[in-house]
Amino acid sequence: MAELEQSEGGNALDAVSQSVKLMEENELFNAGKGSVFNHEGKHEMDAAIMDGKTLLAGAVSGVRNLKHPILLAKAIMEKSEHVLLANSGAADFARTMNLEFAPDDYFFVQHRYDQFLVAREEGSIVLDHTVPGDEKKFGTVGAVALDVFGNIAAATSTGGMTNKKWGRVGDSPIIGAGTYANNETCAISCTGHGEYFIRSVVAYDISCLMEYKGLSLKEACDIVVMKKLVKMGGEGGLIAIDRNGNIEMPFNSEGMYRAMKRSGEESFIGIYND
Ligand code: ASP
Repeated sequence: MAELEQSEGGNALDAVSQSVKLMEENELFNAGKGSVFNHEGKHEMDAAIMDGKTLLAGAVSGVRNLKHPILLAKAIMEKSEHVLLANSGAADFARTMNLEFAPDDYFFVQHRYDQFLVAREEGSIVLDHTVPGDEKKFGTVGAVALDVFGNIAAATSTGGMTNKKWGRVGDSPIIGAGTYANNETCAISCTGHGEYFIRSVVAYDISCLMEYKGLSLKEACDIVVMKKLVKMGGEGGLIAIDRNGNIEMPFNSEGMYRAMKRSGEESFIGIYND
């Protein structure tokens, strides 16, 4: 999860899509190259992007062999009349946009495969842990940003959960659950056990608490991540920024890989609750 604030005239939407694109190329993360394996031993990826200025959004679910699902989400937002495309139809649209595909072995990472073999044997569906044995820190990637024009944006990309079946879709591509942005409130990208994030409509709930109740970003995040999700048993966290540049990165798990950078300030990188 990466948090950015642009200072040199770039826009928030490009900042979040380019950050996520870079992380999709890094096999350490569960997104793009390095995505977890589904029950068939394949990679099915989800991604979403939202523009806080226009409230336009694009999302993709269950796409296979696409190197950068986030670029497809952005193309869906900008070049189609739709918000969410899925599976082979999404891939067909990606081809019309000339987006890059790669064979299965491009996405292969040994420890994710080992994790998959164990999960399939046990019949369990599990959250990705980026480093083997590294419990309770998630590998989905996301970025939120505020630009000099006062616009905010959010983007998220993931391979979902290991050993998922039946076309399971997580929270990441569900606008309002795992990804949301609105210049009036905040931009949010989530990671964690998607089913809980969908049922709690996490990202939109935080935005609503700010919009309708006048809460600060921090107050809204505390309620949703540390109280509501915990009460339901939903493990995970999120990164968030508001239009004033306030940043929150709450998580109720043991850790969450995260970083932030404000113009003119030192960057921050964190794993545990420190
Ligand atoms: N939220 C993702 C999903 O449920 C998984 C993750 O964040 O690790 O698909």
